[in-house]
Amino acid sequence: MTTPYKILLLPGDGIGPEIMGQAVKVLHWLRDKRGLALELSEDLVGGASLARYDTPIRDEVIAQARQSDAVLFGSVGDPAWKNEPFDKRPEVAILRLRKELGLYANLRPAHLFEALLSASALKPDVVRGLDLMIVRETVGGIYFGEPRGIETLPDGSRRGINTEVYTTAEIERVARVAFDLARVRDGRVCSVEKGNVMESGLLWREVVTDLQKRDYPDVELTHMLADNCAMQLVRDPCQFDVLVTGNLFGDLLSDLASMLTGSLGMLPSATLGAVGSNGKRAALYEPIHGSAPDIAGKGIANPLAQILSLAMMLRYSLNRAEEAALIEKAVAQVLARGLRTADIAAKGETSIGTEQMGEAVLKEMDVLS
Ligand code: NAD
Repeated sequence: MTTPYKILLLPGDGIGPEIMGQAVKVLHWLRDKRGLALELSEDLVGGASLARYDTPIRDEVIAQARQSDAVLFGSVGDPAWKNEPFDKRPEVAILRLRKELGLYANLRPAHLFEALLSASALKPDVVRGLDLMIVRETVGGIYFGEPRGIETLPDGSRRGINTEVYTTAEIERVARVAFDLARVRDGRVCSVEKGNVMESGLLWREVVTDLQKRDYPDVELTHMLADNCAMQLVRDPCQFDVLVTGNLFGDLLSDLASMLTGSLGMLPSATLGAVGSNGKRAALYEPIHGSAPDIAGKGIANPLAQILSLAMMLRYSLNRAEEAALIEKAVAQVLARGLRTADIAAKGETSIGTEQMGEAVLKEMDVLS
């Protein structure tokens, strides 16, 4: 008998449970129609966990996440907790998971579905065919470097300090993720830093270059300064295959790239960590959007980012590229047939709800398989 994949579902707050419900239907479809052996478990995080257990995430949930093949996360955030101290905020759940699972590489694909061409902030000719993957380092760099703080100087003025720090090992492990991805994509990595003005950027460039020569000679490597990269992402985004960069530049560039595809409700992400002693790579998959309290409970949220996050999980954690491609194709077909949730509908276009969109994807998967 095949060992089932252990998947931990953490729907969270706001629209999280609504969109997770649709992803779970897809998981059930894969179990029933493709014989995917699954062991699903589910728990509370964020505001939902605070309300029940007085903490945004329990230690048991972290332990369960460590034992799982992958975590499928919805979103956390609930305005009811906005005046509470930091440790009583729903968002702590995702921050703790990232930290405790050592999730150091954030993967954000920016893939433009042909049917949504007009939703992009760029002209159709510039953005048509966009299929880019940004790999951002997430546990190092200036957001975590020491020294940091705000100090008062002898003359009474104040100084704010943050430090950009990267070690060889930190650069190498995230660059490996990018090179491995390029091997199953178009074979090209562009490494982004500011080595012209920052020593950490110089080291970044050296380490990535050495790694490519040593272990990835089959992958094409180019380098780009971060400011030029921001410009190039708007001028000609289709030139890129995989971009790899540090925490700060990745934060900015991945948000920029998300606008190239038009809608927040369409964008999945993955965050990967090291391979543990059990042979499993820690991994969490989630939409890039938040809990959207403004539309929660209305049944109108777009479930596609959550469903596409599940597709990423199949590809990167469960080694089921065929099923991942099936889901992505079904989503493309649904959009091509003109079905839209409110967030991606053009003015005057009729829109469908969360459930209907989920059902439409399942129907398309039936047709395609
Ligand atoms: P948001 O992403 O929740 O919403 C921004 C806008 O996009 C809203 O108008 C919302 O209705 C819309 N939107 C988002 N996802 C959508 C979807 N799937 N379908 C249709 N429309 C969608 O960002 P926000 O309003 O700044 O944050 C709300 C809460 O989410 C905050 O508490 C924030 O801290 C939290 N948040 C959590 C995560 C996470 O869980 N990883 C990420 C970002 C924000």
